[in-house]
Amino acid sequence: MIQLKGIAAAPGISIAKVYKIGKEELIVPQQPIDEAEIPLQIQLFEEALIQTRKEIVDLQKRIAADMGQDEAEIFDAHLLVLEDRMLIEEVIARIKREHLNVAYIFSEVLKKYIDIFSKIEDEYLKERTADINDVGKRILRNLLGKERKGSLEDLKEKVVVVAHDLSPSDTAAMHKQSVCAFVTDIGGKTSHTAIMAKSLEIPAVVGVEEATSKIKSGDTLIVDGSMGVVIIDPDSATLEQYRKEEVKLKGFVEKFLEVKDLPAVTKDGKEVEITANIELPEDVSAVKLHGSHGIGLYRTEFFYMNRKDLPSEEEHYQAYKYVAEEMKPYSVIIRTLDLGGDKFLSQLEIPREMQPFLGWRAIRFCLARPEIFKVQLRAILRASVHGKLKLMYPMISGIEELEQANKILEESKAELSKEKTPFDKDIEVGVMIEVPSAAMTADLLATQADFFSIGTNDLIQYSLAVDRTNEKVAYLYEPAHPAVLRMIKNIIEAGHHAGIRVGMCGEMAGEPALILILLGLGLDDFSMPPVVIPEVKYIIRSLTLSQAQEITQAALKLSTGREVEEFSQAKLREILG
Ligand code: PEP
Ligand code: MG
Repeated sequence: MIQLKGIAAAPGISIAKVYKIGKEELIVPQQPIDEAEIPLQIQLFEEALIQTRKEIVDLQKRIAADMGQDEAEIFDAHLLVLEDRMLIEEVIARIKREHLNVAYIFSEVLKKYIDIFSKIEDEYLKERTADINDVGKRILRNLLGKERKGSLEDLKEKVVVVAHDLSPSDTAAMHKQSVCAFVTDIGGKTSHTAIMAKSLEIPAVVGVEEATSKIKSGDTLIVDGSMGVVIIDPDSATLEQYRKEEVKLKGFVEKFLEVKDLPAVTKDGKEVEITANIELPEDVSAVKLHGSHGIGLYRTEFFYMNRKDLPSEEEHYQAYKYVAEEMKPYSVIIRTLDLGGDKFLSQLEIPREMQPFLGWRAIRFCLARPEIFKVQLRAILRASVHGKLKLMYPMISGIEELEQANKILEESKAELSKEKTPFDKDIEVGVMIEVPSAAMTADLLATQADFFSIGTNDLIQYSLAVDRTNEKVAYLYEPAHPAVLRMIKNIIEAGHHAGIRVGMCGEMAGEPALILILLGLGLDDFSMPPVVIPEVKYIIRSLTLSQAQEITQAALKLSTGREVEEFSQAKLREILG
């Protein structure tokens, strides 16, 4: 039995066998196929070869332009692998003979080739192993993309996925599949992979530095996503202890669920709004189950992931219409495209940047590519007649960006009016406050915004200079840091001074102990992953506003994040008995 410590990213306990995804490994399930499916499998293989050729030729062109012809010619060897008749014929023959899916057969043939080449004495031929491996992975990736079913979906039993890292799109693709927990080597508490795990309501521990080197496929693993602990091959006493813990946690959850449909009102009558964060339209069922009064953050960029093209206006419209109708009479805040940082959209072919979180992303990208931005804005406006929709812009750093975004919005409205397409002319437009410059100029932004939503996930990383996805500096990522609290105070005061509501949709809004302080600071709206809503309502209903204000005043006098955290935890324990 080995115990590993990481960062608690999504609460809950899961005990299951491990399904490990290696650093560069692709998940290649073995699937039997019927005789009738053989031509389709061969066609998929041919398409994957064509697609791979195109990718390599494009890559060659880019390299020739950036680095020179000689460097580009290195990839000629990759193109040769694609034309290797022996390899192609062996794959086709084995599909016909073995009646198995092409991705699996190809991965087996690839392994055999790599094995043979790596044993050859000749240095030149030996070096070809890397080419075969590289080009083989490309083909495999394209095959898996085409097969769609070739993923964790085909697993029969529940597993814990252990990986070096999982991108938000990997995680989104695992939606509703047989994964009951995640463990990753790297990552932070507010990385989008962790956020996605909370949405999926599965426990996750990230930043477990030795996870992939210590854990093997098939091991039994206990994942305690609340404490950030992972136990490999637990002994029977530990298993027993965690099973009891699981039952206890379920008991708490049931207690919290009893208040899920009641208002979030303090004992002395102060009511705040509790809403949910979603990533995909299908998340609305979880939202309803957990008693949310609307959606405070709809992260629309997940709609662009795991596909090769950009979603059309009609696709956007159908998704937003569905969410608007499902959530009626409550409101839904749609956040416009927030790509970049750790959310990479392959179809946009945006070059990798040195500092992606500070780069060409979110509203910056949308303002530079109004033709892409408008598709989404028009769809939001069109869908606004089907419910109560609001929209908000991410990553606004100052008033000029807000004005530019609103100008494009006005153009979209004018187009729709001209086409006589109905939309809500009074749609509220909010600003996410997640960049320190926006926090410090909140008074200026408030004059042109209908509401604020504080994005603490980014606000914390930018103001404390701590990458939210990096486990090495996770200890510095402190929501309770006095600098963060002061900024939040400033934003709330500026918003209220201008007569607008101030909400928060970063993970901090759902942190039990910190809710006391946010309440005391006067936050109006709290938006969070659906799974934490009942607990947050329970807490708010357990204290008075004046108690919260007293706690806040005392917390604001403390000088470190740790002190604030410990103080608010102690107060929470006192309140909840
Ligand atoms: C935030 O930054 O707090 C936020 C809610 O947006 P995201 O987590 O998607 O960056
Ligand atoms: Mg953000």
